[in-house]
Amino acid sequence: MSRTYLVTGTSSGIGKATAERLRARGHTVIGADLKGADIEADLSTAEGRVTLVARAAELTGGRLDAVVACAGTAAFDPVTIKVNHFGAVATLEGLRPLLAAAEAPRAVVISSVASVHPADDALVEAALSGDEDAAVATAQAAVDRGEGRVIYGSSKQSIARWVRRTAITEDWAAVGITLNAIAPGTIVTPMTRPMIDNPEMRAVVDSAVPMPLNGHAAPEQVAPLLEWLTGAENTHVTGQVVFIDGGADAVLRGEGSW
Ligand code: NAD
Repeated sequence: MSRTYLVTGTSSGIGKATAERLRARGHTVIGADLKGADIEADLSTAEGRVTLVARAAELTGGRLDAVVACAGTAAFDPVTIKVNHFGAVATLEGLRPLLAAAEAPRAVVISSVASVHPADDALVEAALSGDEDAAVATAQAAVDRGEGRVIYGSSKQSIARWVRRTAITEDWAAVGITLNAIAPGTIVTPMTRPMIDNPEMRAVVDSAVPMPLNGHAAPEQVAPLLEWLTGAENTHVTGQVVFIDGGADAVLRGEGSW
């Protein structure tokens, strides 16, 4: 049955491949991105987040079957916590009333294997407390210490933890909306291509994200998982962070998650 999706980050990479896959299967996809999408909105800003939700309500008539929140950035800059955590939370919370009007509503957001790397705990806590100003100040302090690279993994840990605490609440599980995250390993997209093409950087990436099963993936290999998680068939998977990482999480954490 044809469903209506809102996918963020559709101008590139995983969001683009997901939108293409869903459209090819006859679904209606409303794309959102900074540019070149049905809804043009900057999810690092309050104005962009309001625009996203208002335009989505107009374009759908107030009912949305699924949300796939892909928009993200890996910049060593506070904008990364603004987009990857606060922009994603605003997308999911803002569109939740539209989801609640659907029969089989589903939502998913993209975390990362980087969520299991060492994080800036103060940044994660600031994000989880919902204090964007404090999170930005904490991220800026990391940049000032020369540790701006920690912001990305911290943003991916905070959004994964937000999913786990939020999915089981009255607003989500109790009204039948699944809410999950996926945690990809290294996916070859414009975000990672410059690192992968540089042999020294590639060695650093592969050491941080070891992928014994099939190595790096294409975005088209991630899209089917997003499709299933947000399809009507998924009746009971919620609050999960599903690693699609060629085994990286198992290498890095072993049995440690138990
Ligand atoms: P990408 O750079 O190809 O695509 C990201 C998209 O997000 C772009 O179209 C960009 O314009 C959009 N975006 C960025 N900032 C935005 C903003 N402020 N407002 C609205 N849109 C914005 O990257 P990708 O690899 O496809 O990444 C998609 C998601 O997957 C991201 O959340 C990323 O962190 C995550 N991820 C990627 C990898 C990987 O190896 N590529 C691994 C783990 C997680």
